[in-house]
Amino acid sequence: MLQHKRILVTGGAGFLGSHLCRRLLAAGHEVICVDNFFSSSRQNVLDLLENPHFELLRHDITLPLHVEADEIYNLACPASPIHYQADPVQTIKTCVMGSFNMLGLAKRLKCKIFQASTSEVYGDPEQTPQHESYWGHVNPNGLRSCYDEGKRCAEALFFSYFREHHLKIKIGRIFNTYGPNMQPDDGRVVSNFIMQALQNKPITVYGDGSQTRSFCYVDDLITCMVNFMDSDESITGPINMGNPTEFTILELAQKVIALTGSSSQINYLPLPSDDPKQRRPDITQAKEKLNFTPTIDLETGLRKTIPYFATLLKK
Ligand code: NAD
Ligand code: UDP
Repeated sequence: MLQHKRILVTGGAGFLGSHLCRRLLAAGHEVICVDNFFSSSRQNVLDLLENPHFELLRHDITLPLHVEADEIYNLACPASPIHYQADPVQTIKTCVMGSFNMLGLAKRLKCKIFQASTSEVYGDPEQTPQHESYWGHVNPNGLRSCYDEGKRCAEALFFSYFREHHLKIKIGRIFNTYGPNMQPDDGRVVSNFIMQALQNKPITVYGDGSQTRSFCYVDDLITCMVNFMDSDESITGPINMGNPTEFTILELAQKVIALTGSSSQINYLPLPSDDPKQRRPDITQAKEKLNFTPTIDLETGLRKTIPYFATLLKK
């Protein structure tokens, strides 16, 4: 029988958060969505505002929060490089002070807490695929460091609370995820390419496009996240979450052009600094411990995502 819970989702108005809130509501839970709209707007959750089981709070998690909840998903943090580099100090504050505040809340409530960590903790990896045991290859003071080191510090904080206060922690290292509700202008590769292709504008491939990423469709990622929260307390992670099928960025550009029927040409631009050359998760742990297998391949996921961006362009 389903146990009805009240669940706090920080960053709940963002891309992943808005899908998670929907999934939890559909499962019969009550959701408190907390967001300061740094990299989102109310738009992603507008249709939920009438739902009596959904509550939206404008709040910055770098400040303490007092609510009652049975579980916490800590997703608040800008995820796209242009957003997290726009205010790097705030990004570190969100990762570090935000984690302190949410861990303190979880300690008082004695509840489980999930942390949205990232493949960026591996930096520009020298091992592929990336297994959780790999410590990474991160520039500690480069342009991406506010996010990479912020998230690494958050993992250290979570494990310190686990060791010192026996908190029920769950750390998921999320790899590139895409789908509806991404901001059209957030600069991430999937949103950029689809928006450009739909407008027959040049597709901006950074570098020669040989760098790789492994793209996970949002529905699969949310399944993995919920399975993780529902897993045994002994499973703390870190666990990689994503789809291990790897593509070059050039292959992605070609797929998006083909699926949109676009006349866009490819425009090669300089590669941003510290841009990881390859990224592919080893998801053995997610498969074995969380019973997770991705079900949506890139082409199917892009077909589900393109109409969302096409609708935005018509508005
Ligand atoms: P997003 O930018 O769409 O969502 C993040 C949300 O957090 C936004 O709504 C933003 O306004 C909110 N936020 C930011 N700072 C806040 C603060 N101080 N207080 C309250 N709210 C705040 O990004 P997303 O893709 O949905 O990512 C969600 C989480 O997953 C992030 O923690 C991100 O680091 C992690 N992640 C995402 C991916 C991905 O591919 N989408 C990959 C790795 C990790
Ligand atoms: N990228 C690109 N063109 C764009 C946006 C991104 O070629 O318009 C590249 C980027 O340099 C990186 C990859 O796509 O190699 C993924 O970028 P994204 O910002 O989506 O995520 P991350 O680098 O954090 O994986």
